[in-house]
Amino acid sequence: MATCKYCGWESYGSGCPNSPTGNHEHSDDEKHCVYCGWENYGSGCPYSPTGNHVHGSGAKKCKHCGWESYGSGCPYSPTGNHEM
Ligand SMILES: [Zn+2]
Ligand SMILES: [Zn+2]
Ligand SMILES: [Zn+2]
Repeated sequence: MATCKYCGWESYGSGCPNSPTGNHEHSDDEKHCVYCGWENYGSGCPYSPTGNHVHGSGAKKCKHCGWESYGSGCPYSPTGNHEM
C-alpha cells in the first residue's frame, strides 16, 4: 500500500507534519489521486492545491487526466500540458 511521501502515513487528508501544504501526499500511486485516493481524474479534490485530482507518477499516463502521451490540451493541468 502506498504511504505518504512526507511522513509514511497510510491515510489521506490534512494533518501531515512534513508536507508544505499540510496534506498527506502519496506520490508513488499512479492508480489513485495522491491527495485523496480517488481513482478518477478531474475536479473536486478536497486536498489538492489546485482542486483537481493528481495521480502519482510511475505509469506512462498524464497525472492530471490519464492521457497516454505528452503535449498540450490537458483539461486539468495547471499549465495546460499533459505531465507524467
Ligand atoms: Zn504525510
Ligand atoms: Zn484527489
Ligand atoms: Zn493530461
